[in-house]
Amino acid sequence: MAVLLKCPACREKFKYDVSQGWPDSCPICETDINNRVPDNVVVVPAFLSQKSNNIDGVARQVMDGSETRAGLAAAMAGVPVEEMSALKITDLNDRNDTEYAAKEIVNPVTQQMDMIRQRGGAIGFGNAEAQNFAAAAHADSFAPHAGAREMRRLQKIMSPIGQAPLPLEISNNPNYRSPV
Ligand SMILES: [Zn+2]
Repeated sequence: MAVLLKCPACREKFKYDVSQGWPDSCPICETDINNRVPDNVVVVPAFLSQKSNNIDGVARQVMDGSETRAGLAAAMAGVPVEEMSALKITDLNDRNDTEYAAKEIVNPVTQQMDMIRQRGGAIGFGNAEAQNFAAAAHADSFAPHAGAREMRRLQKIMSPIGQAPLPLEISNNPNYRSPV
């Protein structure tokens, strides 16, 4: 099958039958245009762009961070790391074909919510009635901000308490950040 090729040297176009392979030299300027690669060279296509690498990298960092947190939690509770392995994230979707990297949760609660939604019911944060209740709780209910006020009242009454030092396994960890 003849196709139109363009010589990289003289930039002229010529027809060539590529069924037997690419031309060794340009029929117009006779320049050697065969891009010969030794047989022992492994040619790898550049299928990972910087962009896809970065998306992949964020997901990997989240997973690595969760492993560190499992270690910290185990050190705090004084138990082997295996007991905190539930904190490890290993199933993040690092492809970009889904809206969220986290796996979608399907359990009896979400199934019930889906069922209510299918029947036209309103649940979750989209429920206007629930939003009104939440707004009213901070405004004109009989005890607005009751929890926060009680916390401040108790803190005033009680004498200041010092925080116990953390185990060195935690405070010496390079990932540890002091909250104060
Ligand atoms: Zn040429």
